[in-house]
Amino acid sequence: MVSLGLEDKVIVVTGGNRGLGAAMVSLLTELGAKVAYTDISIDEKDNKALGIKADVTDITSMEEAAKTIKEKLGPVYGVVANAGITRDNFFTKLTSQDWDAVINVNLKGVVNTIKPFLEGMYEQNAGSIVCISSISGDRGNAGQVNYSATKAAVIGMVKSLAREGARYNVRANAIAPGFINTEMTQAIPEKVRDKITAEIPFRRFGEPQDIAWATAYLLSPVASSYVSGEVLRVNGAHHT
Ligand code: NDP
Repeated sequence: MVSLGLEDKVIVVTGGNRGLGAAMVSLLTELGAKVAYTDISIDEKDNKALGIKADVTDITSMEEAAKTIKEKLGPVYGVVANAGITRDNFFTKLTSQDWDAVINVNLKGVVNTIKPFLEGMYEQNAGSIVCISSISGDRGNAGQVNYSATKAAVIGMVKSLAREGARYNVRANAIAPGFINTEMTQAIPEKVRDKITAEIPFRRFGEPQDIAWATAYLLSPVASSYVSGEVLRVNGAHHT
């Protein structure tokens, strides 16, 4: 039987309570991983994963979560920096608070997510980091200058982390999802959604499962062991 080699690997997903993160948590659990997820709110769920309340903008809270995860599940192999927010508006209308909120979650939050785990991964001489970027960071999007800037920054981060981590056999990659059906995109007005759909060659939004499988691939020490510093676009051919 062929396997992705994720059985019993400890994997942490931020923002795992709903949306793309929740889809990752359930797929990775099905693939046999020991999954922990963090979020600012944790709902009661019938899953085998360990849910921990932690805010990615707060390094102390992430360090405490990391301590609990290591104590309960063991050394961490995979980290998925998924938590993200939007504060959309045109550049002329974006406030300083809109910039700060998005930078704190989407950029500083990714740093705070990786920091408590990276040395442990180096010591294990094995690990995979997956950061969820966006089509917006890859090709830009009107009305999302702040969000695009943070999502592009994450791409730079994984490219450098991949170089630093190579000697420790720790890989780092990003996924740039196109438009995927979650609460984040349900917030887009219907008229705008229809316009976007018409521009996507597949003529539909993707599903959370599409991103969950891409994540499983990039975490897999079997399927992607020589892939590092890459950006995997999952966007229904919506490249340019
Ligand atoms: P959702 O808004 O559906 O879910 C985001 C999750 O992150 C929520 O559970 C939310 O918690 C949590 N979260 C928000 N802020 C924090 C924080 N400070 N600390 C911890 N958790 C937090 O988003 P998606 O699932 O759609 O998006 C997931 C990732 O994918 C994001 O990084 C997003 O930018 C990216 N992405 C999404 C696309 C899409 O089309 N959906 C396209 C491209 C990229 P709460 O429920 O409490 O708010």
